[in-house]
Amino acid sequence: MKVFKFGGASVKDAKAIRNVAAILSLFKSDNLVVVFSAMGKITNLLERLINAYWEASDTALIIEEFKAFHNEIITDLELTNLSDIIAHYNCLEQKIKTKKSNNYHFEYDQIICFGELLSTSIISEFLNQSAPSNWVDARTIIKTNDRWREAKVNWNNTELEYNKQVLPLFSDSCKIVITQGFIGGTNENLTTSLGREGSDFTAAIFAFIANAESVTIWKDVPGMLNADPRIFNGTILLKQISFREAIELAYFGASVIHPKTIQPLKNKEIPLYIKSFLKPKNEGTTIQSSMAYDSKVASYIFKPNQILFSLQPKDFSFVVEDNLKEIFTTLAELNVRVNLMQNSAVSFSFLIDDKYELEELLSAFDQDYNIKYNKEVELLTIRHFKENTINRLTNGKTIILEQKTRQTARLVLK
Ligand code: ASP
Ligand code: MG
Repeated sequence: MKVFKFGGASVKDAKAIRNVAAILSLFKSDNLVVVFSAMGKITNLLERLINAYWEASDTALIIEEFKAFHNEIITDLELTNLSDIIAHYNCLEQKIKTKKSNNYHFEYDQIICFGELLSTSIISEFLNQSAPSNWVDARTIIKTNDRWREAKVNWNNTELEYNKQVLPLFSDSCKIVITQGFIGGTNENLTTSLGREGSDFTAAIFAFIANAESVTIWKDVPGMLNADPRIFNGTILLKQISFREAIELAYFGASVIHPKTIQPLKNKEIPLYIKSFLKPKNEGTTIQSSMAYDSKVASYIFKPNQILFSLQPKDFSFVVEDNLKEIFTTLAELNVRVNLMQNSAVSFSFLIDDKYELEELLSAFDQDYNIKYNKEVELLTIRHFKENTINRLTNGKTIILEQKTRQTARLVLK
């Protein structure tokens, strides 16, 4: 069995969906679990809907936008059996009419799932016109705890559900199982999600559970490149890299794969292919265990929209293990992911994406610390750096903080 994952860009309109069907037809002899994200930018639209629902402001227009987007695709694909699709619309509308609980993150998960539910229902309906496929509700397979928006997978239960529900679906006449990325469910059948951009991780979960032969992530880039082609010219395709190298790149923000994807695959030595959905016959990148092929080509990763915090104990005490423990506990409680950190005798600095509630962060620390923060900074990571590349890339910018190991230079720039 092979696992495929198609992201939002690969199913953003009817033409893109036809292209996906053409790719799948190249793999007729394989059993496939195919994981899809929500179409295009639908998850962002649903986040707007969630906020409107939460603030009790007007949701009707956003729902209309959501339906109009999908309806256009449905019409273009000439789908005739719309019962599942309409059932999802009804569920969403019903949800928006019910009174909200007092937990935003819970409500988020109950609504965000409709992007994936719609995309997979539409695609499955379209594929069924030419060959049968099975649509599976990932919430009944990917079993998680109830940490809303960042749910943790219960691997044993997931494996049980996979064996019970998915495995029997494969037959000689039906070799494709279609399911949603990003979402899961609790034992009480409440919807959870695995964190934004989590569909890659879903693909890895299925592969791990099912001991898949490989995972292929279909992207709008030719594979893993040494830099973001939207920012740099003359990027180089990394044809073969190790899991180790890939995890370094993904961790530092290379957006090609979600960092959580690698670990389950590495543990079972399941190769990961990154391929272009525009040129499906091209080789792309192979990520596997061996480090023999890792090149020393420098890779550049820019993470914009960062905010650098610096905390100083108000009593001017040293920053020691006790404070650090306190600081990390607070950050973990707030679900804040730290991209880089540094301490000196009397201060502790950490860099995070500028996406968290600033007020919440400030009030978590302002009792014991003087807080300074610097907005609109960016993090540049250079893997396999040379001094001259650093100079070239930081030219005209101020380096606020710098960290180097033998292979990796990380610079906070303004
Ligand atoms: N649709 C979700 C998101 O946009 C999950 C994914 O695309 O991986 O975050
Ligand atoms: Mg997406």
